[in-house]
Amino acid sequence: MEEIKNEEEKSLNFIEEIVEEGLHSGKHQKILTRFPPEPNGYLHIGHAKSICLNFGLAKKYNGKTNLRFDDTNPVTEETEYVGSIKEDVRWLGFEWANEFYASDYFEQLYEFAVKLIKKGLAYVDDSTGDEIAAQKGAPTEPGMRNKYAERSIEENLLLFADMRAGKYADGEKVLRAKVDMASPNMQLRDPIMYRIKHAHHHRTGDKWCIYPMYDFAHGQSDSIENITHSICTLEFVAHRPLYNWFIEQLEIFPSKQYEFARLNLTYTVMSKRKLLQLVNEKYVNSWDDPRMPTISGYRRRGYTPESILKFADKIGVQKRENLIDLSLLEFCIREHLNKIALRRMVVLDPLKVVITNYKKDSELVRSEDNPEDENTGYREIPFSAEIYIEKEDFMENPPKKFFRLAPGQKVRLKSAYIIQCDEAVKNADGSIAELRCSYIPESKSGSDTSGIKVQGTLHWVSVKHAVTAELRLYDRLFRVEDPSNEENDFKEYINPDSLQVIKTVYAEPALKKAGFDERYQFLRKGYFCLDKDSSKDKMVFNRTVTLKDTWAKEQKKK
Ligand code: ATP
Ligand code: MG
Repeated sequence: MEEIKNEEEKSLNFIEEIVEEGLHSGKHQKILTRFPPEPNGYLHIGHAKSICLNFGLAKKYNGKTNLRFDDTNPVTEETEYVGSIKEDVRWLGFEWANEFYASDYFEQLYEFAVKLIKKGLAYVDDSTGDEIAAQKGAPTEPGMRNKYAERSIEENLLLFADMRAGKYADGEKVLRAKVDMASPNMQLRDPIMYRIKHAHHHRTGDKWCIYPMYDFAHGQSDSIENITHSICTLEFVAHRPLYNWFIEQLEIFPSKQYEFARLNLTYTVMSKRKLLQLVNEKYVNSWDDPRMPTISGYRRRGYTPESILKFADKIGVQKRENLIDLSLLEFCIREHLNKIALRRMVVLDPLKVVITNYKKDSELVRSEDNPEDENTGYREIPFSAEIYIEKEDFMENPPKKFFRLAPGQKVRLKSAYIIQCDEAVKNADGSIAELRCSYIPESKSGSDTSGIKVQGTLHWVSVKHAVTAELRLYDRLFRVEDPSNEENDFKEYINPDSLQVIKTVYAEPALKKAGFDERYQFLRKGYFCLDKDSSKDKMVFNRTVTLKDTWAKEQKKK
């Protein structure tokens, strides 16, 4: 994997180049960016890219970033989402200069619309949605202006005031900008500025029954806030001429729009509308289900803000759509967790081992908390005559390079002794009931004088000291690389085995003190964190990611 270059060596991305040019030429004294989520769902990892870009630019160039809720659609928006969005941005480590709402500008936007009507640049249209669409023409055919476009300024002012006053039903009238019905850019063919919607808004209540469209809210909000760089995704390239047209005609602060490629991740869907379906139709348990690509889902799964920032940095800022491999995100979290996770031993599928020549009741052995971090210390682990190992670490008739336990074979128990398997005791049905082993007293880790070399080291837990927990193991939520681009509905490609619950696992007692902010590596099993479903009597752990990219390996085999 390519290593990230130092900040100095890294070349600028195209938006940084634009910013630097503006600062050097004196066009801007300071830059001001904004992150403008619509509060209609929880933020996903794609939003994280936009957050890192907008807040990151401001940080780098000593500017500021506003958090602006783009709440112009009363029907889909909720206060719950506002709270979650703020929590997620803060969790990533960013703080906004101002918290604004597009709905704060409704009065101002109304005045802007009146100004355009007065300039003869906007008119009230009584046509239905279908009629308006039909009159728009096609990209290669000019559209047709209808008779409503001939209304006088006075009539338009009156009708627009009546629209605001609630005299008309939903869909009865719209306000349109008078731009150019022949433009090759369809966005400029007299776009709708306002629609009637008798709906309760989460902030303005029932004050308004007309709401501005995206194109007549976004750029104007940017301008009201003196945003210098309004950064959005590529779908808005075709909207840019309209963005500029409104600002020029209104003679307001010249904010400028720049577009970059949105983040698409393999095995993931990334639109709030689709994520909402997964929640509502119970394919997942909640917005923060650890299988969700939401920021809150990743947080609950054990991802760190550092790993997401690193990921955003690695993928960079592009001008072309692309699909990023999910394993890159997993690489970033694995790399960070390797540095910070406390090591613990947990047995998922127990096989009892009786050490027949161990005569003490028990003793404590020492094991390092994290060999990657010299600032962490050691913990003590109780060892006794009865331990659990993983079932898969024993084979009665092993193949050649099986360096774990087998009759007559030796292994080291991590941080403890070397043991040898003397006998496999069987149940009536022939399955293995337990192993009878002997240990080598001189082989204790740290003071090993036995001279015996073994290849395999196993994790283990003392039976009578073990604490129990539940584990939740996650796999990709979708079976195909690009579920949104398949023939059928994306939900048909859901992986039915994306969640595996192991009700009872056995852990060394140090895990009893597990904390929500702590990250763990369960030796040989992966990285884990405590889930919020844990209670005083029951610990629940989520597997954040496996230790190795087992999935990529499996794919190669196929
Ligand atoms: P969705 O379709 O998921 O609802 P959206 O673009 O409608 O996405 P907004 O809440 O309007 O969501 O987006 C807020 C900001 O985040 C916008 O500037 C948008 O361009 C950006 N954004 C949204 N999705 C992505 C993505 N996948 N990659 C990068 N930026 C994104
Ligand atoms: Mg949107």
